[in-house]
Amino acid sequence: MRRVCSYSVFVLILFLLFPSCTHAMNHPRHFYEEKGKAIWDVPTHSKYMAITFDDGPSIKYTPEILKILEEYDARATFFVVGTRVQQNPELIRAMVESGHELANHTFHHPNFTGITKEEIIKEIDFTSEVIEDITGVPPKLFRPPGGVYNDIIVDTANEEGYMVVMWSWHQDTKDWQSPGVPKIVNTVLSNAKNGDIILFHDFGGNRSQTVKALKQILPELIEEGYQFVTVSELIQKHVNYRILNGFGE
Ligand SMILES: [Zn+2]
Repeated sequence: MRRVCSYSVFVLILFLLFPSCTHAMNHPRHFYEEKGKAIWDVPTHSKYMAITFDDGPSIKYTPEILKILEEYDARATFFVVGTRVQQNPELIRAMVESGHELANHTFHHPNFTGITKEEIIKEIDFTSEVIEDITGVPPKLFRPPGGVYNDIIVDTANEEGYMVVMWSWHQDTKDWQSPGVPKIVNTVLSNAKNGDIILFHDFGGNRSQTVKALKQILPELIEEGYQFVTVSELIQKHVNYRILNGFGE
């Protein structure tokens, strides 16, 4: 009896000392970057950047954005949500035909904090299927909702054949908060560097500031010599492409 008790106390102390044992391990970003499991920025020798849009497509704002991108001969990457892909097949086809990349941003955009491996696989696979049904091409880049990352999320996406793509922390426009066009423009222009991955949203409220900001940002950065490529193209320009385990070859 006494031995059982002391064993229980020992287990309780262990649990109090290491409560994180019950949760997914969360490493700092460099842990994933160094292993080529996820990217935030892509170091490149030349002036390349990737513009990304999350949460769409939006029947209202995505066509406007496509028009601006075409005007400046810029390619972008759209991290689309599966349910909205299903609702807008024509728009999805137009995006691909214009040379843009479609990437996986889950099917329902659930909260990824504490999500299980099984749920992640379902969210990724459903989205991949609807994108491939419409375009004939499965996506190969994945961005978790809310920028949440840990071992389960990154490893599962990698196992499903995806590169995990976050964004340059100095290029988080926070456009979803409608901070004003000058603020969005200033965030991007004052921080611009080779290999940046810029974060915008084309769905989730009034995105007119995003549209207006793009009209100012694109000509300015093109004037500075930058070219806008898809994230997959940017990855291939990585100064140490080998660390990405030949991804995208
Ligand atoms: Zn999102």
